[in-house]
Amino acid sequence: MLETIRVFAGDCTTTFEGADDQIQRGHVVVIIKPDRTVLVHDTDGYQPVAWLTRSESITVESDAGGFGITARAGEQVLRVIGHEVTGHAEYPATEAGMPVGTHPETGGSLIQTSDGITVINSDIKYSLPKGATVQDECCESCGLPMIEVIAGERFEICLDRKCEPLDDVVQERFDNEWACPDCGAPMQIIRRGGRLLAGCGKYPACETAFALPTGVVVDICSCGLPIFETSQGQRCLDATCGSFSATNDHSKELPDGVGDKPDNE
Ligand SMILES: [Zn+2]
Ligand SMILES: [Zn+2]
Ligand SMILES: [Zn+2]
Repeated sequence: MLETIRVFAGDCTTTFEGADDQIQRGHVVVIIKPDRTVLVHDTDGYQPVAWLTRSESITVESDAGGFGITARAGEQVLRVIGHEVTGHAEYPATEAGMPVGTHPETGGSLIQTSDGITVINSDIKYSLPKGATVQDECCESCGLPMIEVIAGERFEICLDRKCEPLDDVVQERFDNEWACPDCGAPMQIIRRGGRLLAGCGKYPACETAFALPTGVVVDICSCGLPIFETSQGQRCLDATCGSFSATNDHSKELPDGVGDKPDNE
């Protein structure tokens, strides 16, 4: 179901009650967004003459003779009284995003928005793993764009997880690659609570498991687990690993004695 943007135009009195009260009158255009943001535009510049972002409540009354809009957010109240209506309409609207290709079956544009990739004029939606980027190449079996996913390594897989499951390629690469620091059993890549984890193969007898960071494996920590290069720097798979903080470059640079103090972060 598409959301809509409502538009009202006319000779209006706009009243804003807030930190600075103001009253304005003129022929304006009022835009009400699906998130209840209200914008009142006149002829000048890009900035609205009055606005209320994501109001908590909004009431709209309209008849042939005029309209009244009241939006509230906390102490702030924006009122627009239309004395003479020049027009009002309601238009379907979506989030605008970056075009990243064409859907091979529907021919619709693929749009990358804040919560994944959508196909314009359809309900089709693909989620994008954290840190993933859309590639120029397309999948040989379904024609959708390939994406690069960072999960211990850079994997190029199909945008459609049903066409090429991410979990399969990460499992194929990293299953049995590292030993559980608590019992020594080989660790397996598993999905739990929507996240990819490296978990002990002896589960449930041993419950040791670590979420895979968004990064590439660059080294092995003295604890035996891999070291990941992430956007925040290097870290052990075990975020609380004591061996890693004792051997990392930062503590090596500390003057004699200082590094021996316990780390109280
Ligand atoms: Zn595919
Ligand atoms: Zn274990
Ligand atoms: Zn470690």
